[in-house]
Amino acid sequence: MNKQRYLLVLSGPSGCGKDTVTRRMKELYGNIEVSVSATTREMRDGEQEGIDYYYMSVAQFQDMIARNEILEHTCYCGNYYGTPRAEVEKRIDKSTTVVLVIEVEGGENIKKMYPECTTVFLKPASFEALENRLRSRGTDSEESIQKRLTRAKEELVYADRYDYTLVNDDLDTCARQLYRILSDRQADC
Ligand code: 5GP
Repeated sequence: MNKQRYLLVLSGPSGCGKDTVTRRMKELYGNIEVSVSATTREMRDGEQEGIDYYYMSVAQFQDMIARNEILEHTCYCGNYYGTPRAEVEKRIDKSTTVVLVIEVEGGENIKKMYPECTTVFLKPASFEALENRLRSRGTDSEESIQKRLTRAKEELVYADRYDYTLVNDDLDTCARQLYRILSDRQADC
């Protein structure tokens, strides 16, 4: 099997439930690893270094880019986010499924680098559901929520460029659909 098939990119607007669906899929099926990104954004309450992100200064982030340790990166709502090369390469080399939960520019860049990877765009059930979710998680300032909602409208336009689109209206259904997409793609080669 082409090793790129072990790579799944999951994108969708902030607050649409990408991390929750990925966590649920991992709980249900187990044999999946999730890439931990580098970011310059502040750590939120409840987040942990090395689990949610590798948190760093802009200078440290730029050093990683200069050392070619970042596979793709972008600036999202004022902060840098990037996928460490090691998070992906070491896993697909060992034929381990790895999920990248990243925004759309990163998703497009990864698809260019790994054309055989699977890309899935997760849509919220509605724009109101997205806004409610962003507010109810209580982690972002009003300014950050507004930036994310504005960006969400731009991101939704990218959905057609993904291999698959899912709507997150029921967590377990969505997690099962995502796993099915991944296993069908891995079987189909
Ligand atoms: P948050 O601040 O809510 O954790 O993440 C903001 C956005 O950045 C989300 O859409 C998230 O999926 C995306 N993101 C997280 N890590 C990466 C990454 O390594 N690369 C890219 N391109 N986007 C990322």
